[in-house]
Amino acid sequence: MGKKEFKAESKRLLNLMINSIYTNKEIFLRELISNASDAIDKIYYKALTDENIVFNKDDYYIKLVVDKEKRTLTVSDTGIGMTKDELENNLGIIAKSGSYTFKNENEIKDGYDIIGQFGVGFYSAFMIADKVSVISRALGSENAYKWESEGAEGYIIEESNKDSVGTDIVLSIKSNTEDEEYDDYLETYTLRSIVRKYSDFIRYPVKMDITKHQLKEGSESEYEDLVEEQTINSMVPIWRKNKNELTDEDYNNFYQEKHYGFDKPLKHIHIKIDGAVSYNAILYIPSEMPFDFYTKEYEKGLELYSSGVLIMEKCPDLLPDYFGFVKGVVDSEDLSLNISREVLQHDRQLRLIAKKIRDKIKDELALLLKNEREKYEEFFNKLGKQLKYGIYQEFGSNKEVLQDLLLFYSSKDKKLITLDEYMERMKEDQEYIYYASGESLDRIDKLPQVDFIKDKGYEILYFIDEVDEFTIKVLHDYKEKEFKSVSSADLDVEDDNEECKDESNEEDKNLLDSMKDLLAGKVKDVKISKRLKNHPVYLSNEGEVSIEMEKVLNQMPNGEGIKAEKVLELNNNHKVFEKLKDAYKNNPEKLNLYTNLLYNQALLIEGLPIEDPVEFTNNIWELLS
Ligand code: ADP
Repeated sequence: MGKKEFKAESKRLLNLMINSIYTNKEIFLRELISNASDAIDKIYYKALTDENIVFNKDDYYIKLVVDKEKRTLTVSDTGIGMTKDELENNLGIIAKSGSYTFKNENEIKDGYDIIGQFGVGFYSAFMIADKVSVISRALGSENAYKWESEGAEGYIIEESNKDSVGTDIVLSIKSNTEDEEYDDYLETYTLRSIVRKYSDFIRYPVKMDITKHQLKEGSESEYEDLVEEQTINSMVPIWRKNKNELTDEDYNNFYQEKHYGFDKPLKHIHIKIDGAVSYNAILYIPSEMPFDFYTKEYEKGLELYSSGVLIMEKCPDLLPDYFGFVKGVVDSEDLSLNISREVLQHDRQLRLIAKKIRDKIKDELALLLKNEREKYEEFFNKLGKQLKYGIYQEFGSNKEVLQDLLLFYSSKDKKLITLDEYMERMKEDQEYIYYASGESLDRIDKLPQVDFIKDKGYEILYFIDEVDEFTIKVLHDYKEKEFKSVSSADLDVEDDNEECKDESNEEDKNLLDSMKDLLAGKVKDVKISKRLKNHPVYLSNEGEVSIEMEKVLNQMPNGEGIKAEKVLELNNNHKVFEKLKDAYKNNPEKLNLYTNLLYNQALLIEGLPIEDPVEFTNNIWELLS
């Protein structure tokens, strides 16, 4: 029989495989074992409805056989087999043509990614073999046929012999090259580790003859080689097991085995859903930030299995960025194995699973917060920043998911509290949720503007993370109470400081105006403060950009030059104010000196750099002498 040609698409895919420089060639075995497992499944399902077929579990298995001399690896299964037509139709063309529609030649290069993420079925065998023979006998047939190909030129199909139903795939392993040790695929230990890595959870046994070099029975010095058939996969994935069969240790071991992290996970979440979309998942919340989390190399994602077969080591679409630290596996029967990355992203089932997973993580964190506060705070201190970024980055669209998981330090006892706890303790007349930003709790606690709000009996959230104010800006309000910075110039708080004189006093007004002139370009306004008690001066701000934000933005590329609109507020009950008035009347130069000093002090209190430290210290000396 003459050689037949592959269909165009198949030919291109085949070429992609043959010339692949893909480093993870070992996945070919995953693909073949998965096909074998599917073929056994088909008999299994037939047996459910056809009483002529008895499905005796022991008769169904996959076997790997190595022949080092012939340089062949054979993957056999006792599955449903293929008829002549099926060999032709299944292996001559791509089964699911929809999955790989190459748009142009460049995609051959991009194909690198296709192989990496999904493997590409049977043809991946051509990454490691220069000839592939498929000998198959279909269920209910007496004849066997052989399909054989040495690459893109074509294939032959001819009659063959096979004693029992099933398929043998004989791979003639390529010779070693400079870059690739193909010989490895003829080593049982390599094959065993590949099987354990990718196909451990296949439902049927994957068997292999293992040669054991051991002492002869009854002898003390003589050795013999014993060949023993072993099942090399464990067959039952931990996520399929019942929760009550598993101990914390089992879960922790799995975490280690999978190299999810060096830490002990803070919490595991085992999900088993049988529904419109069925899936099992085990998720872990780590107790430590993954060590490479802030590097470019870090990829978020969950391991994705389809019926026990690994299809993707890190499926990013299963996790939102703000839960990017979560590790784990998802296994669903409702996902197809050979699905391209692009299609997967838009897969309805996958999106549904992703949403469920997100909600589950959220619920579990909420439970932890409710029931194991200490543990939650530990989590939040290490990983909570991600949740704040989450709100900020997605413009508040996940507000509902995340806002109740946030914790902030409070002016009362300097402990972490939730927004809800803040709300509960709010005074009846209180209109805003107050916050103050700074470098540390201590520094915030000493800010003049903080005293004022505290004296009113209002609680203040202390923001010490750079992202805090940005997060709160995006949140805007919590249960309809707006957030308000204690530094904002329009702090609508009733002033009950009796001694505070009205600034409408003409003389004071003129003083403030000339100070404003002296500080032109630096502050937007100079005014008498309604909130200062003991301090002579502080900076409040108007507009959208706060002083803390200015600090953060100025550290970023392109953020330089972004300035908060600052207002210098003065305490007219302070002795300094008398000095200012005096200088204004009698000594304009002194007024300039005082104004600059006060402004720079206000900057220092806010943790902002002063513009000219040398001038500032000189001014102090001048004042002292
Ligand atoms: P996919 O597995 O995604 O369908 P493949 O290219 O791996 O794509 O396989 C194409 C088809 O060949 C399969 O759908 C199946 O019908 C058939 N096939 C492959 N391997 C076997 C096997 N070991 N036993 C029976 N049929 C097989």
